[in-house]
Amino acid sequence: MAEIGFKKTDNTFNLDYTAKTKDWLDSRYRRDNSGLYRAHRPIYGFGIEPSEKNHTIRYGIAYGILKALNRLQWETTLDVGGGEGYLPKLLRTIFNRESYTSEISLEANLRAKEFFGLTGVTADVQRLPFKDGSFDIVIASEVIEHLQYPQLGLYEMARVASEAVVITTAEAYASERERVLRLKTRNFQAPHSERNYWHPSDFRRLFDGEVRVLTCTKAFMDIDEKSIDQREAIDLVRNMTPLDDYDRDALDALIIFLKNDASMGEPALEDEIILDQLFSFKVAHNYRAVEIAPPPVDKLCCPVCRGNLEMREDKCRCSNCREEYPVFEGIPVLLTQKPLSPPSASDIEKAGLKPEGMMHIADKFAPKDTSRLNKFSCIVLLAFNLLFRYITSTVPWKIKFKWLRNKANPSIFINYFVK
Ligand SMILES: [Zn+2]
Repeated sequence: MAEIGFKKTDNTFNLDYTAKTKDWLDSRYRRDNSGLYRAHRPIYGFGIEPSEKNHTIRYGIAYGILKALNRLQWETTLDVGGGEGYLPKLLRTIFNRESYTSEISLEANLRAKEFFGLTGVTADVQRLPFKDGSFDIVIASEVIEHLQYPQLGLYEMARVASEAVVITTAEAYASERERVLRLKTRNFQAPHSERNYWHPSDFRRLFDGEVRVLTCTKAFMDIDEKSIDQREAIDLVRNMTPLDDYDRDALDALIIFLKNDASMGEPALEDEIILDQLFSFKVAHNYRAVEIAPPPVDKLCCPVCRGNLEMREDKCRCSNCREEYPVFEGIPVLLTQKPLSPPSASDIEKAGLKPEGMMHIADKFAPKDTSRLNKFSCIVLLAFNLLFRYITSTVPWKIKFKWLRNKANPSIFINYFVK
């Protein structure tokens, strides 16, 4: 299976871009000089600063995931690329079950511990330090579009999950033509950039079993919270997080891969209760969690060889290959610079994936040079496409106008096309 690797000469992966992204994320998740933390998710509540903009869509994405989890059987979840631990904390609060976070950024894990009492694991999604099938459900929200080797990240998620993998990405297009245009506008230099633009067929080719690609949130829902109040936002999230087929009106895709004959059933809780809890969940700026949940120690393994880890207070060591890893404030930092070999065809099949699908994704998202003229033409075509979508979308005009007002800033508009 050398084909799914990249540096075909030595058959290992070069993770330099991943290291660059990790540094960027660490600076992103750090507190500022005054000690204040600018949240990635709206952890302080709707419209309360400082959190990243577009709260409505962020609540919509969280609601979509919660609705999916409400229809699946599970006792444990792992959120990979979990940021400051917002989703696992929501899952613990609403469902009262074991939910963990893993993040490549140690700074993000520190925030998860401070705010939510979650001791995460510092890990790379492309080489997760967890044993096979250790969690019922593995979640990755707005992660797969940023991965240097997305096929590897998806393989790792499927390997570690026993029941289902639940993914969201806003970088998914119902139209293959639109996806191809997007792929030509990519920026491979900027850390944490949107490198992978998906089409529903990618997931059907990759996962061996039941796969659902659903509309999590609809287009034109990414509205600045300054132009919408919480009541309106709740109505919008309720109405525009439909979990039905993925069509042209969709913005965020929710992908559910059901492993080992797992199935989706009737909701365990009323969706309205979940929506209410989602919008009432918040922490104060200076809040510090009193109770600290431990990391999932029994599920950990060495990211190099998957051997057992001997845990000590300030470090842990692989009992097989003897590699040592630091433990910082209780958070295992299971990162390594060691070369990574691609999984074998039998490993891929055992995880529930199809080797052909892995190769398809590797090829589709491999960096390619695009001339400036070609890139510019694609941006022009995308702009026309957006205009057409805007006019024909069934999203209410009142919402579309609010979206337009939000995007009227030229820099935001350019950023829409060149990420
Ligand atoms: Zn090892």
